[in-house]
Amino acid sequence: MKLGIVGLPNVGKSTLFNAITNAGAQAANYPFCTIEPNVGVVAVPDKRLDQLAEMYHPKKYTPATIEFVDIAGLVRGASKGEGLGNKFLANIRECDAIVHVVRCFQDDDIVHVDGSIDPKRDIETINTELILSDLEVLDRRIERTQKMIKADKKYQAELDFFKHVKDVLNEGKAARTVECEEDQAELLASVALLSNKPIIYAANMSEGDFSAGVEKNPYFGVVKEFAESEHAGVLPICAETEAQISGLEPEEKVLFLADMGLDESGLDRLIRACYSLLGLISFLTAGEPEVRAWTIREGTKAPQAAGKIHTDFERGFIRAEVVAYDDLIACGSLAAAKEKGLVRSEGKDYVMSDGDVVLFRFNV
Ligand code: GDP
Repeated sequence: MKLGIVGLPNVGKSTLFNAITNAGAQAANYPFCTIEPNVGVVAVPDKRLDQLAEMYHPKKYTPATIEFVDIAGLVRGASKGEGLGNKFLANIRECDAIVHVVRCFQDDDIVHVDGSIDPKRDIETINTELILSDLEVLDRRIERTQKMIKADKKYQAELDFFKHVKDVLNEGKAARTVECEEDQAELLASVALLSNKPIIYAANMSEGDFSAGVEKNPYFGVVKEFAESEHAGVLPICAETEAQISGLEPEEKVLFLADMGLDESGLDRLIRACYSLLGLISFLTAGEPEVRAWTIREGTKAPQAAGKIHTDFERGFIRAEVVAYDDLIACGSLAAAKEKGLVRSEGKDYVMSDGDVVLFRFNV
């Protein structure tokens, strides 16, 4: 999964991104790699994996990971090619979801590109660039649909829908705000519009505001209201604190957070929020060679989940031996869980649950 971090200049994107890459680099157990300078990989925190590691003492410990892409330099005029605009838009296109950092902190020493702190204006500035780019893409699709109607009238409904989406975009609203029936949602997804991507608005505020209670920050309510109007996610965050925490050893990190009255870092909250926004869950595999978490979408069936591990597993799928994580831990071992009849044999129509510990049986 790939998340693009966007936002105006000087809102705290790089600070957050540095926290992310530091966190990845610090977690020496985790496979960390910098693929490109603007890509950071972090582990998805999952306490269940630690428990399984205690049970199996595996040679390898592999959490699920998320990639964050720092999409800096998105400014007013980007859709018209200002400041390498199109390159940034292309970067966003490759992401599964967007984290939009919004400045909610006051600091006279740090210039705001538009002269004042105004989260709604800032959000709209960035969204407008995405919407303008979407209008170009949608116009091409509308043209194509008009040609198809000449051959077959059945495309009229599609055309009407696309024109409706265009009206919404022309009002300055994101495509994600369009009310859709299920088949229309599929149609909309087929156009791959930037403003239809799932989004979380990250309200970046000072540490003082954060610990005093985020609702007291005068700008947070504005961001929250906007996010709600789009049925989007919203998350208060303090990028500077995240940057400090990310350099700490795990034990120090726990103490630092406890001092602030928190039990997890903002980065961990962000990762969890992205998971729920995207409808993602994890299944687990456990044995002496490796304990590992795998990311799938809610509703994924067993063969497709097996395909995450290897395409052969999906092609030759026979069945899945599944035990719920809580059952496995309660029994203390897989053998004990088997004795109690808690290890189920599931077929190709089984819909995976979060925390399933699985062994796939397959033909090669
Ligand atoms: P970017 O242009 O969006 O990547 O912004 P940066 O991450 O480079 O941040 C711009 C400046 O704002 C830097 O000097 C940061 O240290 C500072 N900054 C980031 N977050 C906060 C914050 O919560 N409070 C204050 N006072 N400064 C911050």
